[in-house]
Amino acid sequence: MKYAVIDRGDKLSIQLAERFHTLAAGRGLVRDEERPEIVISIGGDGTLLQAFHTHLERIDELAFVGVHTGHLGFYADWQKDELEELVRTMSDQEPKIVRYPLARIEMETAEGTSSHLALNEFTLKGVDGTLVAQININDELFEMFRGDGIVISTPSGSTAYNKSVGGAIVHPSIESLQIAEIASINNRVYRTLGSSVLLPAHHHCDIISRKEQRLLLAIDHLNILRSDIRSIRASVAGQKISFARYRPFTFWNRVREAFLGYEVN
Ligand code: NAP
Repeated sequence: MKYAVIDRGDKLSIQLAERFHTLAAGRGLVRDEERPEIVISIGGDGTLLQAFHTHLERIDELAFVGVHTGHLGFYADWQKDELEELVRTMSDQEPKIVRYPLARIEMETAEGTSSHLALNEFTLKGVDGTLVAQININDELFEMFRGDGIVISTPSGSTAYNKSVGGAIVHPSIESLQIAEIASINNRVYRTLGSSVLLPAHHHCDIISRKEQRLLLAIDHLNILRSDIRSIRASVAGQKISFARYRPFTFWNRVREAFLGYEVN
């Protein structure tokens, strides 16, 4: 099996990556940073986002395994003191492949259209003031938005930024997109729903800029600043991300451990 490793760049993660390579060589696993079948992310959930964007072009041909240097994460099943067990399991056992939905946007700017994929979410914010935008769902006007911004999250991203702005937590088996508001202004001109909405895979949503404004588009951890964004069309992507599971760790156990603090048995 061919594998690659991405680490967070801190001292502990770098040491763990080196240890992983040593253990993997002893078990006959082949390091291939260009065309891996399995990508090991060592750090946190943020490191898995980096790993996802690094290997985006081959996303259909590989699966991810997360090792967390702190607590277990939403994208990390293994802890720092379990590397030996992980390598042994990887060489002895076929993993169960679990696939999570991704979000896709098509961004229209003065330069043309570009498309992007996100694992957690897309966030659109005003830079010099509030974001002013028309929101259409399935090509029909839904609402006029004025506020700090909008978060468009995947199910697995629903526990990240989306949760902080009051969005619901969505199980990753539900192919959907969640649109959540960040501090909307509500008055006679601008009226928004006030709660997040969940779109199914066959729906789409357009965010149309209603004035010349500098906007910050965040694609997971990556930020793009532009003053010529005309619109963004968001939908559930046709592609998915694959995770290689060598042992069960259910989504609801992750939620419970992360937010309620109870240990998983
Ligand atoms: P960061 O600001 O250094 O860390 C963001 C935090 O979100 C980290 O604790 C990270 O966990 C956690 N996280 C990442 N994905 C998650 C998920 N799917 N569910 C639950 N928690 C998750 O930024 P970063 O590490 O580069 O991560 C970028 C992400 O930060 C964005 O995708 C966005 O979701 C999130 N963010 C959140 C807010 C907010 O909640 N107010 C604001 C901006 C961005 P680890 O410690 O395990 O890496």
